[in-house]
Amino acid sequence: MSRTPEKQGELFIVATPIGNLADMVPRALDILQNAQLIAAEDTRHSGKLLQHFQIDTPLVAYHDYSDAAKLRQLLARLEQGATVALISDAGTPLISDPGYRLVHEARLAGIKVTPIPGPCALIAALSASGLPSDRFSFEGFLPAKQGARTAALEALALDQRTLIFYESPHRIEDCLADMAAAFGEERPVVMARELTKTFETFLRGTLQELIAQVAADPNQRKGEIVVLVQGYRAPHNAPDITEAARRVLMILLEELPVKQAASLAAQITGEKKNKLYQWAIGRSVDP
Ligand code: SAM
Repeated sequence: MSRTPEKQGELFIVATPIGNLADMVPRALDILQNAQLIAAEDTRHSGKLLQHFQIDTPLVAYHDYSDAAKLRQLLARLEQGATVALISDAGTPLISDPGYRLVHEARLAGIKVTPIPGPCALIAALSASGLPSDRFSFEGFLPAKQGARTAALEALALDQRTLIFYESPHRIEDCLADMAAAFGEERPVVMARELTKTFETFLRGTLQELIAQVAADPNQRKGEIVVLVQGYRAPHNAPDITEAARRVLMILLEELPVKQAASLAAQITGEKKNKLYQWAIGRSVDP
């Protein structure tokens, strides 16, 4: 006896514009128009976008902190064969935006999940930054508290990949200052602001230069911002040391002369004293 296969539900992860509505891709419009349900981070915000494109698909709120019942309801709809589109306020869902729990659970339940690619601030910023794009690490938003932020930056100080951060305008000055402390004032950085919008701006320079530019121009403290930092480049002739040794040495260098700091760091970490000394000297000449 042949059975008609049950209709399969499908979850579409749909990217939406990050400022310029002309960036909405035709395939996204088609999916949003024809889905049975759109799950959105903020239904009021997304309602305006959908209204602009004359899409009247029913909207429900979803974020990763939604109660378990909400998540189960969405999964149940998918399991019953519904087509659901997930969108966030802007850009690609799940990228510093809700959606991870839903996609994870949908995959566990064997539901088909399909991406509809489109705008994403980090990729737009990287593609036009002029910084190496072959290897990069997206770090999202740094912690709001300075201690945690400094610790997070310190842990990245020797990372050779281009580092990409989202940052809010009211924290940008503190963020750049903490980056200068962790990475050295000479580290090249790019600040991409208001991408795809009227006041799109790319500032490029060393951390020291950008700190001065942002302090001098209040407009640079407005809007939406992506900060991209060039990865660590070993100073000329400086030896490679382990991340643990670097961290210990950096702490000791704040309190002690180089020789003493290198000697103590060697005892603590087992790294060679001379190597640490050479690294510290190289670092102080060319951070
Ligand atoms: N899901 C989004 C994406 O795909 O890029 C990111 C959402 S996250 C909540 C918002 C942050 O992304 C902003 O604070 C800013 O750092 C960055 N961002 C979003 N739109 C931007 C734009 N037009 N220009 C620069 N940065 C933007």
